Formats: sequence, C-alpha cells, structure tokens
Amino acid sequence: MASATDQLNRPLGVLRLSLTARCNLACPYCLPDGVEPPGLLTLAQRLAVIEAAVTLGAHSLRLTGGEPLLHGGLEELIAAVQALRARAPGSPGLREIALTSNGTLLSPERARALRGAGLDRITLSLDGTTGAAVARMAGVGNGDALLAKVLAAIEHARAAGFDPGRGALKLNAVIQRGANDDQLLPLAALARERGLELRLIEFMDVGNRNGWRPEAVLSAAAMVERIRARWPLEPLGRSAHGTASRWRYSDREPDGGGVLAVVASVSAPFCGDCNRLRVTADGIAYTCLFAAPGSGLDLRPWLQPDSPADAVSRVIAGLWSRRSDRWSEERQEAWAHGTPPAPAGAPAHAEMAYLGG
Ligand code: SAM
Ligand code: SF4
Repeated sequence: MASATDQLNRPLGVLRLSLTARCNLACPYCLPDGVEPPGLLTLAQRLAVIEAAVTLGAHSLRLTGGEPLLHGGLEELIAAVQALRARAPGSPGLREIALTSNGTLLSPERARALRGAGLDRITLSLDGTTGAAVARMAGVGNGDALLAKVLAAIEHARAAGFDPGRGALKLNAVIQRGANDDQLLPLAALARERGLELRLIEFMDVGNRNGWRPEAVLSAAAMVERIRARWPLEPLGRSAHGTASRWRYSDREPDGGGVLAVVASVSAPFCGDCNRLRVTADGIAYTCLFAAPGSGLDLRPWLQPDSPADAVSRVIAGLWSRRSDRWSEERQEAWAHGTPPAPAGAPAHAEMAYLGG
C-alpha cells in the first residue's frame, strides 16, 4: 500500500502508541485519572496497528502512556517489532523505536532489557532539580526520592547503551509559568553537566483537568532568552516534521550536552507539517493531540481474528486521507480574532495521559 498523505499533503511519518492510560505520578499539568480504559489492545493487535502504520509510511514508533514502564509486555512488544522492521513491505521501513517515560521504574535490569529488545531511544521527563520543585510538578509527596530515582534512571539508561551523544537519551521538561519557570537554568545546567539534550515543552492545553490558562504558558522564545542570557546559543532550526526547535550551545561540542530544544506547540504551532498518528491503549486512533474526547476512530472492529489482513491499514489510510486538523494553528488564529477556539463549556480536549502526549 502506498504512503498516506492527508488533505493538507502531510505524510504519515510517526506512530505514537500508548500502552496504558495509567501512571504512577500525578503531574498536575497532565493529571491522569488512574483508570485504564476497557478493551486494551492485545500484543497481536498492537503489532497489527504498527505494521499498518509502517506500511503507510511511518518510519518512527514512539511508545508512551500514561507511564509505559507500567506495562509488563513492553519488552516483548519491542522485540516483536524487530521482525516487522525487517519486513515492512513496500515502505521505507521502521527506522527507530523510542520510549517516553517518567523514569521512576527504570532499573538497571529494565534498561538493559529494553536495549536488548531493540529500543533505540529513551526520553525521560524531569521538571525540576530540587525535591520541592519535582514534588510540585509530579504531584507527589517525596520529591527528593523521585528526583533521585530519575537521576539514577538517566545513568541506568546510559549504562545500558542509550548514548546521549547519539541522541538516544534526552530529557523532557514541561515549563509552567509560576510553577517551575525558576527551574529553567538549573535544568539546563543539569542537562549540560550530564551531556543530555534538554527539551523544554510549553505548557499545553491538552485535557480538561489541568487548569490550563494562557498566562501559565511561558513561551519557548522567552525560555530561550532566559537561557541565552546565561550561555551562548546559536539556532539550529526545526527539522521537517519535528516538534522541537533546536539550539546549539556555542561553548560546547554538539554531542556532549551541547543542544537545547524547545517545543513551542502553543506559541508557534507546527501543524503545517505534523506527521503524527496517535493510537491509545484501547485502540482509538487520533490524528491531533488537541482532539475532542470521543472524536477518535475505534480500530478494534478491524483488529479481530477474522478481520482481513489489510483491514486495519485500509481504515487508517482512509482516516489519514480525510485528515485536515490543525487545531493549534486554529487556536492561534482564533486568539488573533479574540474568539475562543472551542464552544464555551464544551469538554475541549481528550486527556493527555490517555492520548499519550
Ligand atoms: N509518563 C511519561 C512521561 O511523563 O514522560 C509518558 C507520557 S507523558 C503524557 C508524555 C509527555 O507529555 C511528557 O514529557 C510530559 O511531560 C508531557 N506532558 C504532559 N502533559 C503536558 C502538558 N499539559 N503540556 C505539555 N506537555 C505535557
Ligand atoms: Fe504520568 Fe507522564 Fe502524565 Fe506525569 S506527564 S502524570 S508522568 S503520564
């Protein structure tokens, strides 16, 4: 089957597959409800979704959640995808398998098992460098213990072969004005010391529970300015279809903590070349992170034992070919005209921990 393109001529390039909606943290900007949706996909169904997406042009698979390390079958899934990597008929094939995790469950053994199964990259989330900041941002009581776990996870991942110099180990941090914007420089210093690329993410209006308001967004441009006041930065730009604009610390080598990235999904949307398909743990396909709850397409009817082999790829191809969503750009246009982008009182967005970020 040929690669899929949508109504705005955007190719399908990335599959973000959520393995669980559950999480062991309670970050207030995300706020999972702790409930797993009924009817989780089986391993075979997940493999069928991945194969379909790869056939339609997806070259990158990102496993996420909730917290994906809560899923006991993670390593088995990654190992099973390797076979797919080799075959992917008539497509450019799967070039990378990545994982986004809060790192709390990443023991040395688990890191080695993930690497051994064929995982290429890990991005760990950490929103502060003090126990107090980490506790506030993760919604937990003991921030010191959590910080220690994530710092240890970075080293376990490195020891298992996830080389930050090759982009195989990165840090994500959500920055929320008034909550942890004082952590910007400390986080940048921590990433520089450990040789990691730090990806600073604007606080996004995903979900309905996180109390998002425009004033709580610190723009990516403002983040860069604050960091540039401390260290010299040169722009590297945003790669095609990427989410992050990257900057190089000109006092460092690029492969040794020499890169800073910012994800400006609110202040400078990148819908124009978005190539991401999202599939939830219970098999619902969404083509936009800011989609309304219940607006996704349930893939499960096409993932039954008696479904034709190409049924799910046909359905995803149809979904992608009808796609025209560009929610974040529309939000900006609506702001420019002084109108809200969604009807007042409507549950605007599906929840982040369900969609998988
Ligand atoms: N639990 C894993 C983690 O935290 O890395 C994976 C799932 S989490 C939903 C994926 C990413 O989304 C994380 O880096 C998290 O910080 C980010 N995220 C969650 N809610 C967000 C929000 N409201 N705005 C911006 N980023 C958010
Ligand atoms: Fe859990 Fe990740 Fe959401 Fe934090 S951002 S609550 S770690 S799913």
